[in-house]
Amino acid sequence: MNESRVIAYIGLGSNLQGPQEQIDRALQELTELPESQTVAHSSLYRSRPVGPQDQPDFINAVAMLETDLQAERLLDELLGLEDRHQRVRDGRLWGPRTLDLDLLLLGERRIVTERLQVPHPQMTVRAFVLVPLAEIAPADLLIPGAGKLSELLKEVDRSGLTLA
Ligand code: ADP
Ligand code: MG
Repeated sequence: MNESRVIAYIGLGSNLQGPQEQIDRALQELTELPESQTVAHSSLYRSRPVGPQDQPDFINAVAMLETDLQAERLLDELLGLEDRHQRVRDGRLWGPRTLDLDLLLLGERRIVTERLQVPHPQMTVRAFVLVPLAEIAPADLLIPGAGKLSELLKEVDRSGLTLA
């Protein structure tokens, strides 16, 4: 691996307009990102929504890429893919969406800018992130600032999460 090449984990979620197809399409589109190769992706999971309950269940997955893209460039690519899925931002926190792509981890880097926080701040308490991540990540994966994935998995509430 050259110096700028790093492993990125991307969290995918959808609960509108055919969520399974949205996620299948997004997984395919991730394989076409510039300067990146998709290494693996998890199974698809179904989860009950976080926050407002008056919305459909989510379909979630996690993908693993090797990328040479800088963090903010990768974020721009992910937001561009969300736009291609006609994601409408109504300003509602944790509201329904056709596609949500979160940059969960970028190697062991810690990034805090106006537009980007890595590791993704909520990932450590979300079963719909940790469980699919554990399917494809090394057993001893370290989440900077939070500890080992294997330890976080012991604490997380898995109620409401099933295979899709
Ligand atoms: P959420 O996923 O928390 O519901 P959004 O998908 O609406 O929120 O994201 C809003 C903004 O979050 C994005 O425009 C982006 O700038 C910012 N953001 C900060 N950190 C991350 C990250 N790790 N991955 C994706 N977006 C992030
Ligand atoms: Mg998001």
